[in-house]
Amino acid sequence: MSINQSGWKPTAPAKGEGAAPTFTGNKALMLEEPLIFEIGSTKTTGVDFAEGDVAHDRLGDLTRKAPIGLPGLSEQETVRHYTRLSRQNYAIDLGLFPLGSCTMKHNPRLNEKMARLPGFADVHPLQPVDTVQGALEVINQLAFWLIDLTGMHGVAMSPKAGAHGELCGILCIKAALEKRGEGHRKVVLVPESAHGTNPATAAFAGFTVEDIPATPDGRVDLDALTARLGPDVAAVMITNPNTCGLFERDLKAISDAVHAAGGYVYCDGANFNAIVGRVRPGDLGVDAMHINLHKTFSTPHGGGGPGSGPVVLSEALSPFGPLPFTERHGDGYITLVEEETVEDRHPDSFGRMTAFHGQMGMFTRALTYILSHGADGLRQVAEDAVLNANYVLRSLEDVLDAPFAASGPCMHEAIFSDKGFADGFSTIDAAKALIDEGFHPMTMYFPLVVHGAMLVEPTETESKAALDQFIGALRSVAERAKAGDPSLKTAPHFAPRSRLDETLAARKPVLVWKEPAPVAEAAE
Ligand SMILES: *Cc1c(COP(=O)(O)O)cnc(C)c1O
Repeated sequence: MSINQSGWKPTAPAKGEGAAPTFTGNKALMLEEPLIFEIGSTKTTGVDFAEGDVAHDRLGDLTRKAPIGLPGLSEQETVRHYTRLSRQNYAIDLGLFPLGSCTMKHNPRLNEKMARLPGFADVHPLQPVDTVQGALEVINQLAFWLIDLTGMHGVAMSPKAGAHGELCGILCIKAALEKRGEGHRKVVLVPESAHGTNPATAAFAGFTVEDIPATPDGRVDLDALTARLGPDVAAVMITNPNTCGLFERDLKAISDAVHAAGGYVYCDGANFNAIVGRVRPGDLGVDAMHINLHKTFSTPHGGGGPGSGPVVLSEALSPFGPLPFTERHGDGYITLVEEETVEDRHPDSFGRMTAFHGQMGMFTRALTYILSHGADGLRQVAEDAVLNANYVLRSLEDVLDAPFAASGPCMHEAIFSDKGFADGFSTIDAAKALIDEGFHPMTMYFPLVVHGAMLVEPTETESKAALDQFIGALRSVAERAKAGDPSLKTAPHFAPRSRLDETLAARKPVLVWKEPAPVAEAAE
């Protein structure tokens, strides 16, 4: 039996089962924690300031009439409350985060150290320009790397997330079409496997979205796509590597066909991690692509911090990029244009995406990551990410259905499905059981083209030992799902909360705490 074989037996009792409940509800070091309003009374205060002479205020009608309604807690109670809550959360610093498409990798502490240098951390967007030259240099250097790594012409650094970058790219395409007098091109073609943000972006920008089917091997159907091209098509939005974890080998042919038909090629670059240093999207005919700095170039994301989604543009689209904009010039230099200058250096810009330059902290982290890896190190990132994903794929394909395993090696993520699970068992049961095993679940039911999809992205920063432990856990869970182990239906058993009604929680969130009505005194 290899190290990552689980050896799960249907009769093994779950550890902790049958123990008496504790008085506190705490489970050893996992502490239960009520709402902050339930701990601290709104009638007490955690600090005892002297009354002080209240000066005559100038708020007029705006003076608060009722108490503020916040619980009064001491400093220690407050710190404990948030520390306890934080321990109920999962983080990349705790364990492997196999969330496919999200590229949840280790964030080197060096990045944090650089981002926290006071000269970067404390800059204010309205400071005089001559006091922020260092920060502007960080943006310009990062822009240089992004342009170089993608083989593109210019980059808009300001978009603040991948989805925001998509909007930026599509607005560039819209502006370019209008300038050509072809604003009537209203259709954007999007493959079935696309991330939901792609069709949402196109629709938000006023386009009509049409699906392009996939071939049975999980790639865009080139014939179906070329057959649909015509004078009404503005662009295609394509993800490479795609969300099935496969490289779109026909992208150059797709770009050529789209360009010949007068359209533009938008590439969703969220999966750039798998190809950075190996493939330049500019060489594949891409016109616009966002780069999720918070995926490919580390920087914390999800609950850990904001994102950043710079958009690289081809020479054809660069004139339309939003300000501030960074562009390569004939002499090879790359410069940042912040405002329309007297010489009108960027007159066709469609406008602005953000008030200022974007996410400075993310820029500093991403540039640190890039410089500490160097060009050869970034290439190694892509190679290791792909190697790790293939290790996961080949270690589990005997126990989990792997729909595209026969299509060859995967890129940086491995896709499985719930085909073969016992009747009534689905992906969600495996995902919830993984929580009991101490892992964040993988991406579930996405991409939609795979029924019951499980998309696993280990990233390059995991060791073989960490991958083996994860593979063992997923193998065990898969075996239980295939055997129809009933306890899987109620997993997780060891988490602070078990199965929640996630639909209800999303549709009818209870966001406001109301003081419970006082319990009526029992009659004597
Ligand atoms: C993450 C992701 C996006 C959206 O990026 P955000 O930064 O979350 O807005 C778009 N497409 C794909 C394929 C992604 O993985």
